Amino acid sequence: MTLTDADLYGRRPLLPRFIAHVQNAGRCGLACWLWLAPLTRGAPRFHFRGRHISARRLAYALAFGVSVPAEAQIVSTCRRSRCVRPDHLRLRIPPPPRMTKPRIMLNPEKAAAMREARSAGKTLRALGEHFHVSESMACLVVNGKRWRQL
Ligand SMILES: [Zn+2]
Repeated sequence: MTLTDADLYGRRPLLPRFIAHVQNAGRCGLACWLWLAPLTRGAPRFHFRGRHISARRLAYALAFGVSVPAEAQIVSTCRRSRCVRPDHLRLRIPPPPRMTKPRIMLNPEKAAAMREARSAGKTLRALGEHFHVSESMACLVVNGKRWRQL
């Protein structure tokens, strides 16, 4: 979410509209700033640009002047579901899904071809790259430690 000048300084400035829903807003100390408007699925929601958005995301963007990436989550460090105090909020970007390397299976034909190529002088590294296996696996195959039955 990126806030524009029209959002901040336009006909209906965002900050006063937002603050109107917050108890204790601007209070010093450690007190939570509690969202007074109804929650949606347990989370503070704010009507903005024609739809309901996370009030925490908006609080974070307003306070720190950053756009919050769509994949990011805003979590409260005080663990109060209604708290929107910016310094009680933390940006959490979930790690990307783990990429699993596709498992390349050797077969008897590939193992035989690997041995032939090794006999013709190919390096283990070249064999590994060509057959999509590690250099150490290429070594095991050409030395008969794997696919011995050929
Ligand atoms: Zn809090």
